[in-house]
Amino acid sequence: MDALGQAAEWIGRSRYLVALTGAGVSTPSGIPDFRSEGSGLWTRYDPMEVASIWAFSRRPEAFFEWVRPLARMIVEARPNPAHNALARLEAAGILKTLITQNIDALHQKAGSRRVIEVHGHLREATCIRCYRKVPAAPYLEAFLQEGTIPRCEVCGGVLKPDIILFGEQLPVRAFLEAQQEARRADVFLVVGSSLEVAPAGDLPLVAKAHGARLILINRSPTVADRYADLQIRGDVAEILPRLAEAVLGPEGASAPSAGGTEPMSGGP
Ligand code: ZN
Repeated sequence: MDALGQAAEWIGRSRYLVALTGAGVSTPSGIPDFRSEGSGLWTRYDPMEVASIWAFSRRPEAFFEWVRPLARMIVEARPNPAHNALARLEAAGILKTLITQNIDALHQKAGSRRVIEVHGHLREATCIRCYRKVPAAPYLEAFLQEGTIPRCEVCGGVLKPDIILFGEQLPVRAFLEAQQEARRADVFLVVGSSLEVAPAGDLPLVAKAHGARLILINRSPTVADRYADLQIRGDVAEILPRLAEAVLGPEGASAPSAGGTEPMSGGP
């Protein structure tokens, strides 16, 4: 049996499948890996000067100038076949939880419902002076159009999007939940993450230490390769749909028990 067939068998028989996704799942949707040097996002900027919590509190305008093109890409991006395949596995009741290091919400756009975002998201922002939390949507348009820096309507402090910057703690509740899910998993699937970013990168080891089978699907080597039970190298947008199909059958084909759209008469 090839690696894909083996992965499909383990996933098909799993009791509690948990997936962890990283930037590699979103690059086929045109979103660069904002933590990687090769992404082009750092050619004009030093990450510590714009995307660290220290830089943000000192010079928020530099952060907002840097994040603006990224925010526009995220708003316009569409899910790709890798996102869709994971949503399909969840809809079929096989994938129980999706943990993501991505901030782009493309999993939700694809239809995934149980998503733990360990690096935060852009839906809300928090005032760095009074800590009031607000929905980001009302500020987004003016920011994308004119670069207007969002400010708290109560105290005038700068609103920081709820994404995790360099030097910031991961959101505690989300991370504890992610660890709990990793411990519960009997199969742990990592997609499009090199697992270099701690502490989220430790989740596969947590799963493994609690008895899970570890499957890694990535374009390049990862730091957890030597712990993996199975590795599949390649394009996640090509591999994930094949994997979902190997587990669930071709997309759109009626499930054996569904039958609702089939004509009731005329059978043999
Ligand atoms: Zn405030």
